[in-house]
Amino acid sequence: MIASWQERLAEGRVVVIDGGMGSELVKRGFRLNETAWSGLAAAAHAELLRDIHADFILAGAEMITANTFGTTRFVLESAGRGSEFRSINERAVRAAFAARDATGADVAVAGSISCVPPGLDLGAYPDPDTEARDYREIAELLAELGVDLLVLEMMQDDEHAIRACEAAADVGLPLWLGLSCRLGAEGSSLVGFDYPEIPIDVTLRTLLAFEPAVVTVMHTPPEAVAPALAAIRSQWDGPTGAYPVLDTDTPDGGRTPPVLSPSGLAELAVRWVDADARVLGGCCGAGPDHIRALREVALEFNDGSARHGAA
Ligand SMILES: [Zn+2]
Repeated sequence: MIASWQERLAEGRVVVIDGGMGSELVKRGFRLNETAWSGLAAAAHAELLRDIHADFILAGAEMITANTFGTTRFVLESAGRGSEFRSINERAVRAAFAARDATGADVAVAGSISCVPPGLDLGAYPDPDTEARDYREIAELLAELGVDLLVLEMMQDDEHAIRACEAAADVGLPLWLGLSCRLGAEGSSLVGFDYPEIPIDVTLRTLLAFEPAVVTVMHTPPEAVAPALAAIRSQWDGPTGAYPVLDTDTPDGGRTPPVLSPSGLAELAVRWVDADARVLGGCCGAGPDHIRALREVALEFNDGSARHGAA
């Protein structure tokens, strides 16, 4: 079966996805774990996950991502919760499906596989074999749980990202490749978000071998999105998209205010669509109101292109 997001992208339409789950959890009182970040939310707060997913769907998201961003076994084990690997991932995916059922909306449910290390500490990865095995384990479990696609998130280097992509590609679901980058020190080059020494175009060239359905610019500051979209377009002619980062954590476990209001994000998103982006959403700091504003951008563009097509 061809999912509706695939049909819409094939028609050149804009598809809206959800916003940031971790930041939304914090806004609603959940305290992020210092090792597994948002990864433990499903263990005791599956209803909260479901409610957040539902709010994003009601705001206009046509694809939602289950809260499996920080749930690889090596992350959960570092948090002392490795034995709950299966149940936490099951509960996270079920919460997304429950939101789809509760709203009755025709949305796709993605499983997220990220390269975030325990405690966001780049020195805390397990040995390469364990890391590769754990990506494989979560990719297979997400496929077994019935997600419609896999989104690879925080892809920004040519070592950990390759392991995650290899594992995801092997299960046969459509892949979205999510590059996380930022402007380099001199302000012109684009580098990995946490890897200032790795140019993002090198990472991209390597990871395109895994034949993604969509390449997105995710968890990337808004000012780096347009250059990143251009960098992708110079190497690849498939659908692109953007879900930027709008906030960051504060020392007391909270979040800073988002750097863009919903209308501010929508203004930039219009330019990204002009630059050929066809997937719009938000990462950290983007709540349902941001998604609602992006939905308006998508409706306007899609109506316009439909009128144009009919003329
Ligand atoms: Zn983010």
